[in-house]
Amino acid sequence: MSSDSRLAIGVLDGDGIGPEIVPIAVDVAVAAGAREDIEFDWVTLPLGRDAIAEYGTPTPQSALEGLDELDVWILGPHDSAGYPEEFRGMLTPGAVIRKRFGLYANIRPCRAYRGVAATAPDIDVVIARENSEGLYADRNMAVGSGEFMPTPDVALAVGVVTREASRRIAREAFRLARQRSRHVTIVHKANVLRLTTGLFRDACREVAVGFPDVDVDEQHVDAMAALLVRRPADFDVLVTENLFGDILSDLAGELAGSLGMAGSVNCSSTKAMAQASHGAAPDIAGRGIADPVGILASTAMMLRWWGDQRSDDALTRCAARIDNAIDVTLAAGIRTADLGGSATTTAFGAAVVEAIDRGTERADGS
Ligand code: ATP
Repeated sequence: MSSDSRLAIGVLDGDGIGPEIVPIAVDVAVAAGAREDIEFDWVTLPLGRDAIAEYGTPTPQSALEGLDELDVWILGPHDSAGYPEEFRGMLTPGAVIRKRFGLYANIRPCRAYRGVAATAPDIDVVIARENSEGLYADRNMAVGSGEFMPTPDVALAVGVVTREASRRIAREAFRLARQRSRHVTIVHKANVLRLTTGLFRDACREVAVGFPDVDVDEQHVDAMAALLVRRPADFDVLVTENLFGDILSDLAGELAGSLGMAGSVNCSSTKAMAQASHGAAPDIAGRGIADPVGILASTAMMLRWWGDQRSDDALTRCAARIDNAIDVTLAAGIRTADLGGSATTTAFGAAVVEAIDRGTERADGS
């Protein structure tokens, strides 16, 4: 099926390096869309520190209502730790959005790119991270936060694991594995957190029964961290709860070359949000040196999700064009400072657009 001629995508720049990298993702998607005769409508929405200045909140109602109308959007990183004191106790903008739209699956692929020095050049994994519960106090309660401080010297946190949410992310993981090497590793810590991560493990095992064509094994999260370093090529899809997934995906991203290159998408069955695995990187913000690969890879994932959703091959090809153009650009030795290169963020983005315009990339990856 071919694409509708116009498709709307939300854009929320966010904080720190967000306003430097998100516009690059838009430019690159425009270029890839043009090659497929797709013209996107870009719907810019306020978020983060700028929104505090203008609307008195980092997550304005107008932004949320704008997202209500959209299937997909690109979310820049937010630096909620750097907000004025009165906003620091609130749900972070990303958490507000994930909760409102029930974005329960955080899919984080990590692979090394051709020609880029990586600690683990043969790593090629996808982490399917449960995104709505666990120890993440900002999203595991219907009302309020799952962290408490009965006295200044005592802090408690509630960890939430439900069978249904665990099964839901497991189904995503097994479906993903069917498009890859058909191997899922269930990552838990059920030897210690017997009830919570034990329930997570059991729910994943139940789902595994419906996927007899996919190999399944299990690892404790601490062993998993070691094995990702020792023999990364042995793993394909890792399914895990929220906090473990957050930590393992940063590790895997760095093993693949740089955290700045790790893409990620947050999705439900009806909406998807491109959001790089990294944060706002306030230490390098404003210097024009941020690596945009993570947000570009995230944007490609979002387009691929959308293409699947709509059975729209043109969107899927668009995603492939972006992935392949990143590959071609990095292989040509154009890199930002995190990879030891000297390209600025905009120069790298321009090189990716040029690769797409030149057609050195191909939608089929050839
Ligand atoms: P969060 O909790 O919001 O994910 P974080 O504490 O994990 O944030 P980051 O903001 O991701 O921290 O930054 C971690 C390190 O990685 C910093 O040194 C930062 O400069 C670097 N970094 C993150 N993203 C990029 C990027 N896109 N390009 C280059 N360096 C990056």
